Amino acid sequence: MFPRVILKEMMIKKSQQKKIVSPCNYKERVFVLDTQELKYSECRPGKKPMLKGCIPLFRIKCVEIVFCDVPIPCNYKYPFQVFHDNHYLYIFAPDNDCRQRWVRALKEETKNNNLVSKYHPNFWMDGKWRCCQQADKLAAGCHVYYPEGEASKKPLPKLPDSKMELHNSGQLTVIALQDYAPANNDDIPLVKDEEYILIDSNHADWWAVQNGQGAIGFVPSTYVAEKSVKNFERFEWYNKNINRGEAETLLKNEDREGAFMVRDSSQAGVFTVSVFAKALGSNGERTPSVKHYQIRQTQTGKAAFYLAENYLFNTIPQLIHYHQHNAAGLITRLRHPVSRDGGCSQELADLSQDQWQVNPTELVLGQELGTGQFGRVLEGRWRENKVAVKMVIEGCMSEEDFKEEAKVMMQLSHCKLVQLYGVCTQRSPLCLVFEFMDNGCLTDYLRARKGRLSADQLLGMCLDVSEGMMYLESSNFIHRDLAARNCLVSKNNEVKVSDFGMTRFVFDDQYTSSQCSKFPVKWSAPEVIRYCKFSSKSDIWSFGVLMWEVFTEGRLPYEHLSNAEVVEMLNKGLRLQKPRLAPHSVHILMEWCWKEKPDDRPSFSLLLHEIGSLGHVKQPIC
Ligand code: ADP
Repeated sequence: MFPRVILKEMMIKKSQQKKIVSPCNYKERVFVLDTQELKYSECRPGKKPMLKGCIPLFRIKCVEIVFCDVPIPCNYKYPFQVFHDNHYLYIFAPDNDCRQRWVRALKEETKNNNLVSKYHPNFWMDGKWRCCQQADKLAAGCHVYYPEGEASKKPLPKLPDSKMELHNSGQLTVIALQDYAPANNDDIPLVKDEEYILIDSNHADWWAVQNGQGAIGFVPSTYVAEKSVKNFERFEWYNKNINRGEAETLLKNEDREGAFMVRDSSQAGVFTVSVFAKALGSNGERTPSVKHYQIRQTQTGKAAFYLAENYLFNTIPQLIHYHQHNAAGLITRLRHPVSRDGGCSQELADLSQDQWQVNPTELVLGQELGTGQFGRVLEGRWRENKVAVKMVIEGCMSEEDFKEEAKVMMQLSHCKLVQLYGVCTQRSPLCLVFEFMDNGCLTDYLRARKGRLSADQLLGMCLDVSEGMMYLESSNFIHRDLAARNCLVSKNNEVKVSDFGMTRFVFDDQYTSSQCSKFPVKWSAPEVIRYCKFSSKSDIWSFGVLMWEVFTEGRLPYEHLSNAEVVEMLNKGLRLQKPRLAPHSVHILMEWCWKEKPDDRPSFSLLLHEIGSLGHVKQPIC
């Protein structure tokens, strides 16, 4: 079959400088993208174009726009990158539309390749990456790569009229809360944690900002936050001019675990987070109380905000976002924003309803797939998709909390996570609708294929899980129950992480207390067993156990030991033994995950890099 031409356009190419001595130059080339290759040729007047280079699409590992903070030395000012083999090809498009067209088409054609999980948003220049300062050209990227474009699948409203007059709002600086890839000509990219000058914030959904290069354009207002700590009025959790007493009254009236607000502290320029919780007293009864935490700022270097010392953030909205998902030292997670007029949060909740509610008339239920923590899991169909539906038995789950959190979980979207499509609350029991995974749970999958999986295939499974986990880590989301039984396998044998964060909604004490029989002690880090201190580093410990499960082809860890014996063994510094199928290099990684001190364990991004460098080649399994 002949390849089909998808795009053909004149753009400028920077020399790839494959050797250190290669010259740096910029040349006009005709680029042709077809269903098999990306080719570029020199245009010669009156003659046939001369082919100068050709990249088979299967070699491409990343395609993304380049965010640039230095002047571009050629006539076309819209760069994008194609990372293939071990080389970076920089291409410069004449306008943003053209760049978007190419990036989108290339992403589409390469989305099933063996892609990077992180990329470099800026240029490699003068011997280092401008984004992260790493001096190795092949160093792992520093930003999450989204093969299918934007991380958030939530549709944005229409861009405002570009002829709208821009008026400088007075040199306010904003910080990007997440990356944004422009979809039109009037918007510009955002790079997470970069600063921008706010030019116009008159439009509710789109703000005009200026980037470091001087380019001005629109960005979604919800993707940025003011660096200045004064202006939080648009956040549903902020209450201006409320004192401690009034805050307590409002929160107590709300009477919901995790009801919270941010208010001005009595100390000028300082903010306080007030949270309502029902703390367990010594008499075993829960007493309602409101705790107040001052938001503190580090004194040295770049300003950073924190509530609990270990967790620093560039902006207060980032800090609040983090603690909405993690208690991390607070009496409880910040669950329900409360405002004096009550109007704002209600309006927001209504707005997002459509996006997380599954209409029961669209959901067709089929045969049973299995039984889980919350009840039966059925096969189903929803809007032309095969889905798995968890039917939650009444009394098993803290449903109100889950419904709140479902909105957040739906926004977590990555090819190595089992996607939550939505929740059907309009009929009983409550149904959770997930992406369907044809090959079931990883433990069963491993056991069924015992003796037939190569070391490379086993490593590939660990790589898949570490990619999904790295995404959760970079989203500040803790899994809390990572294990092979909580990973599922797709039709084409990809392993995806499932059930992230779900243990927080389990009502069964046997499961949630580390002293009890159903608590996953064998997968838990020492600090979780001792003080229930969950973090991405405790997920790393569990990941080490998961690697062990994979390399023993689905055996139960510490097979002949009780939970109490496991705790005793860990206290003595003993660990699981090297599985026979695990190479020495893989066992070293497991042991790294099982370091006693959380800080001595690697992050998922580091681990992913290490696993990736063990010479693993992705191959289809069986
Ligand atoms: P829970 O985590 O609620 O305890 P599980 O996720 O373990 O429940 O689900 C029980 C069983 O249902 C799994 O072992 C698996 O066979 C099946 N299952 C769960 N989710 C899916 C899915 N997304 N696709 C296909 N099968 C699934």
